Amino acid sequence: MPNSYAAPLADMRFALYDVLDVEPAFAAMGFTDATRELVDAVLDEGARFTQTVLAPLNEVGDRIGCTLDRATGEVTTPPGFKQAYAQYVEGGWAGLNAPVEHGGQALPHAAGVPLKEMIDAANLAWGNFPLLSHGATEALLHYGDEWQQQTFLKPLVEGRWTGTMCLTEPHAGTDLGLMKTRAEPNEDGSYSISGTKIFITAGEHDFTDNIVHLVLARLPDSPAGSKGISLFVVPKMRVARDGSLGERNGVRCGSLEHKMGIHGSATCVMNFDSAQGWLVGAPHKGLQGMFVMMNTARLAVGLQGLGLSDRAYQNALAYSRERLQMRSLSGVKAPDKAADPIIVHPDVRRMLLTCKALVEGGRVMGYHGALLVDQAHHGADEAARARADAWLGFMTPIVKACLTEWSLECTYNALQCYGGHGYIAEYGMEQLSRDARITTIYEGTTGIQALDLLGRKVMQLQGAGLQVMLEEIATFCDANADDAAVAPFIASLRDKAAQWQDLTMKIGRRAMANADEVGAAAYDYVMYSGYVALAYWWARSVVAANKSSNSSAFKSAKLETARFYFARILPRTEMHAAAMMSSADTLTTLHADAFDAT
Ligand SMILES: Cc1cc2nc3c(=O)[nH]c(=O)nc-3n(C[C@H](O)[C@H](O)[C@H](O)COP(=O)(O)OP(=O)(O)OC[C@H]3O[C@@H](n4cnc5c(N)ncnc54)[C@H](O)[C@@H]3O)c2cc1C
Repeated sequence: MPNSYAAPLADMRFALYDVLDVEPAFAAMGFTDATRELVDAVLDEGARFTQTVLAPLNEVGDRIGCTLDRATGEVTTPPGFKQAYAQYVEGGWAGLNAPVEHGGQALPHAAGVPLKEMIDAANLAWGNFPLLSHGATEALLHYGDEWQQQTFLKPLVEGRWTGTMCLTEPHAGTDLGLMKTRAEPNEDGSYSISGTKIFITAGEHDFTDNIVHLVLARLPDSPAGSKGISLFVVPKMRVARDGSLGERNGVRCGSLEHKMGIHGSATCVMNFDSAQGWLVGAPHKGLQGMFVMMNTARLAVGLQGLGLSDRAYQNALAYSRERLQMRSLSGVKAPDKAADPIIVHPDVRRMLLTCKALVEGGRVMGYHGALLVDQAHHGADEAARARADAWLGFMTPIVKACLTEWSLECTYNALQCYGGHGYIAEYGMEQLSRDARITTIYEGTTGIQALDLLGRKVMQLQGAGLQVMLEEIATFCDANADDAAVAPFIASLRDKAAQWQDLTMKIGRRAMANADEVGAAAYDYVMYSGYVALAYWWARSVVAANKSSNSSAFKSAKLETARFYFARILPRTEMHAAAMMSSADTLTTLHADAFDAT
């Protein structure tokens, strides 16, 4: 049975229309074109494109990968990747959410987010090529000057050029303040950029004539640390003031990384040698522009985790229904067969239900993040926009950290359902596990998302986003207090909301005495938050399913999965609560030199 992918359209529609109720939300934000008919067409066409064009290239991308011609610095992508990109551009997919004036279709992010999930599930490595164009577009929309917007946005939005995000250097990963790439001013107002960036996704490829690098570098008079970093736009091919393409710029791929997964994605060492570039935004304020890119990209990487989890789950489910091994403990279930299908065994069901609960709940959580992006920009009034923005800021690290951590768990559980057949390459399950592994690392590791959540969004910003989340939970619980179908979930959710607030205050008090308490509690706090947020979305899913026109089998599957989630996954919060409330000393006392004491 080859590893396959079928876009879960029914559940995507359920998340969008029934749980998140996007139709009135889009109308209220003025997205009059984003009708159900149009969004359905995007879903159907997106499913066709990803299932028939991208998914079949997933295995070949892994097996053959990208190759570099060292003489020319040109990268060749795996067979079929370039043609698939041409179809993607032809289909108008590149500019789905971008403004009309720059060649886009201005659809809400929440209408485009299922396509993103489908691309990632079908072929994560391929999806990385167009991914960073969106971040580059956002950065230029926010901070680019008129010439930069006129010159770079349309080709990016139309997919004729792609974008990159060049932050990382050999000695500067998480700590960008250490970066050394230099930018010297030229007489014509441009800059000469020199330095080496590593791990640059889609830094070089054969899809398009030009690549637009968004590069962090230091001006000669820059202060030390992260306050002295500026952002530059540096095209692969020189661009004249009139927008015409010139000769090759001084930027070149020096090598390709050999890596654990996503072999079809070009991860490049990029050498900048007096490359011509232009300052984007104010001098020394480059991190602001990069954060615009990174926030979009963080939600997007969360979606990558979701897509891989879903694909792994789909395949494991099909396999578990067909694979015959042993008899059910409670009596034979398939007397006409030599053994029962493994889906009868409680432990296999544990693994499948874990995937189902994390995928379907995670889908609503991830799509809601996209809806918050829309509401933060297009909400009815200032207060609505500020509320959405606070909630979005709070949820972004949770979506990134949890959907990616869960993708490790889901791909491993799904692989385990295959037994030894999961471990060998033939069934494609080990590729999904390897591909998933990067998602907890790039765009800020889980540890860094955790610090962003607890240190910045909760401590520095006084938990504004948490308050919105808790208010939403309280409103939901009050509104559904009389609904017997969700009564146990509501009681549990109320308890967790109270505990969430209590834990947050306790950590805040401890942090005043010892700053290490934040770092020591952060990982458990982000995971705890993800599990409580998912409980909210599962309770809402049950209510939404019961009110919807879905089949009784669908409604009952939602209810049973919610029961599983509350009984068997939500209790993980107790472990995280205990861990985060243990003193930071349990982590900090052992001296660095004493780890390997003999
Ligand atoms: C396949 C791939 C694609 C990538 N694509 C891009 C790209 O397109 N553009 C780009 O610029 N970069 C890219 N990266 C780089 C990626 O974003 C970094 O690898 C990542 O941010 C971590 O940086 P690092 O590898 O230097 O690890 P380090 O920063 O050295 O971190 C090592 C470990 O220490 C932890 N750590 C560090 N500081 C702290 C702290 N203060 N508190 C707690 N823990 C801490 C980290 O969580 C991590 O576990 C890519 C990387 C890979 C592997």
